[in-house]
Amino acid sequence: MGWVLYDTGYDPEIGAATASFSMRLYARVMNVDVSRKTSVVAGLAKLGLRPEDISLVVLSHFHPDHIGGARLFAKSRFLCSRVGYESALRHPRRLGFRRDLLPDDFETRCDYVEDLSMVFDSLLSVFGKVYDLFGDGEVRCVLIDGHAPRQVACMLGGPDAACFLVSDAAWSSQAISRNCPPSSLTRWIHDDWKALLENLEKLHRLALSHPNWKFVPSHCRVSLEEAECRLVRSC
Ligand SMILES: [Zn+2]
Repeated sequence: MGWVLYDTGYDPEIGAATASFSMRLYARVMNVDVSRKTSVVAGLAKLGLRPEDISLVVLSHFHPDHIGGARLFAKSRFLCSRVGYESALRHPRRLGFRRDLLPDDFETRCDYVEDLSMVFDSLLSVFGKVYDLFGDGEVRCVLIDGHAPRQVACMLGGPDAACFLVSDAAWSSQAISRNCPPSSLTRWIHDDWKALLENLEKLHRLALSHPNWKFVPSHCRVSLEEAECRLVRSC
């Protein structure tokens, strides 16, 4: 398989050139850092990698700060939710989607989580079907509604030492530990407020019953630094 990347961030070259006013407002609310220092290229370089070294890019959902660097990955395969992608195509304005942030040949290089084999996981099944990314149970995926349709979350490791990449299902690990939803003033950002609250509560319950798990929301700098986990696998 090679190296796997979870989301691309918001590439300053590509993203800034296409950002609309609403997208800039979104980035401001979401505390998105679009500087060159935090770009995916810079992050990969710290690991001694370049975009062409990445075999698979998992796209959790289609907000610009998660797909803004996708065009840099000219040879990689992509993985996303079919329902999530089709929803973004159907409702680009409401879901903040820019098709031009994706490579032109995205669909020919994309696989869908819904087509992966399923695996039994009594803990993650609170979110519905559980998918097996590599076919060995090492990385399991679930699709979490609320912030965006069918957001791809990935669990690495077993029940004793797991790392759960939850993308924007919560904005901080503290929000999960306290079951604290985002301000209702940000409702316009989210696709389904009721589902967001329900799934945040599920994450909260998992956090209470598994205090050794690392929950890593994409915008939580603290948990990103603490977890020191990357969805990478080299073989
Ligand atoms: Zn988002």
